[in-house]
Amino acid sequence: CGVFGVFGSPDAAALTALGLHALQHRGQEAAGIVSYDGSDFPAHRASGQVGDIFGSQDVIKSLQGHRAVGHVRYSTAGGKGLRNVQPLFADFEFGGLAIAHNGNLTNALAVRDRLVRRGSIFQSTADTEVFIHLIATSLYEKIVDRLIDALRQVEGAYSLVVMTQKKLIGVRDPLGVRPLVLGKLNDSYIFSSETVGLDIVGAEFIRDVEPGEIVEITDAGIRSTKPFKPVKSRFCIFEHVYFARPDSIVEGSSVYDVRKNIGRELARESAVEADVVVPIPDSGVPPALGYAEESGIPFELGIIRNHYVGRTFIEPTDQIRHLGVKLKHNANPGKLKGKRVILVDDSIVRGTTSTKIVELVRHAGAAEVHMRITSPPTANPCFYGVDTPSKEKLMAANYDIETMAKMIGVDSLAFVSIDGLYRATGLPGRDAQSPAFCDACFTGDYPIKLTDHQTENKGR
Ligand code: 5GP
Ligand code: SF4
Ligand code: MG
Repeated sequence: CGVFGVFGSPDAAALTALGLHALQHRGQEAAGIVSYDGSDFPAHRASGQVGDIFGSQDVIKSLQGHRAVGHVRYSTAGGKGLRNVQPLFADFEFGGLAIAHNGNLTNALAVRDRLVRRGSIFQSTADTEVFIHLIATSLYEKIVDRLIDALRQVEGAYSLVVMTQKKLIGVRDPLGVRPLVLGKLNDSYIFSSETVGLDIVGAEFIRDVEPGEIVEITDAGIRSTKPFKPVKSRFCIFEHVYFARPDSIVEGSSVYDVRKNIGRELARESAVEADVVVPIPDSGVPPALGYAEESGIPFELGIIRNHYVGRTFIEPTDQIRHLGVKLKHNANPGKLKGKRVILVDDSIVRGTTSTKIVELVRHAGAAEVHMRITSPPTANPCFYGVDTPSKEKLMAANYDIETMAKMIGVDSLAFVSIDGLYRATGLPGRDAQSPAFCDACFTGDYPIKLTDHQTENKGR
């Protein structure tokens, strides 16, 4: 998901709509904005894409006020119903509160059970709603203290933007798994999942919200608190590989540069003789450039993407996913016929995309097809906000690389090593004692407890 918030601009809702548009790649299922006009919290939420939902002046005009918070949704927890579309809003005795969440809680069911037994009535199936009830039932007086009290009870990954009658608050979980940045536009402050959300409105990047930090913005300015015991951060390495936009700067690194470096690592680690390096667009483009530069093999756009189809993986049903892949890519035959082709993609999850693309490339007359993947094998599900399927559906969880190569139909298949991936971010490799990133989907080393998952597995 993507989150965005504005404090102190007469165009708060319009800026938020623009910000969400820049964050559209983080979720295309639904979007919402809640503003605060000094007495009410007008809201608009719908399924679909930002441009369709917030393209109309009437909708933006209905969201009056100098403060707004927005969300683009990609469902990882909870169903697809409109009740789950964020930002969530609750009207407490102490005032209204809107909350937008990127990430996924790993003890939401446990907390929810406890709350329900005590009388809380849940409106949605979204994990985010537990924040609302924990804030509501907290015995602290000030909203920020109630929020901190709530945060102490949840486990999981969260970057939050919270809006109240007085404040806009940005929060990252203690490990900082998901991104969140702070920016400034004239006299107003902005929170955005990624720097591209600042760029689109011409805002200046101030800094990342730090792991475990709560940044409160009021008319009096900025206040920062760190209520948790400091721990070593574990930013999601898959943001670098796939999730973030290449023109974003995350945690001090250019996503584009990291992706190019991964391509270079791959060219060194698993070189193969070939005539062309072809990216699977869009995420394969920067690493394919890196691969081509490092190997000296020419880069060609041998596969063209139709830009009017969303990210296949994010469409939630299998049926649409299969349909999506066919709609999305086409071979550029002149660049493939008779050639030994190196295909570069970011990941193999179910193997659907790779299988179809290899078929396309073979059909266009390629002499050999070699696949290079810019992440290690995805052998474990993500429980922290990226919607990887369960283990049974993950190709790399069930087959070795040689078998995967046969199934996909390639002459060779190689994944970047975990150390190669870390090197691409500028580190010497993965420090096994104290890794710098979350990489659980590749290593199985989950940095945050999986309370709900473990109880489910015990046959709850
Ligand atoms: P597959 O077709 O193997 O199931 O999925 C891999 C493709 O899905 C890749 O081309 C990748 O670009 C895309 N993809 C989109 N969203 C995600 C995601 O959240 N996780 C992963 N691992 N891949 C994704
Ligand atoms: Fe990112 Fe993978 Fe960790 Fe999920 S499990 S947060 S996708 S690195
Ligand atoms: Mg892809």
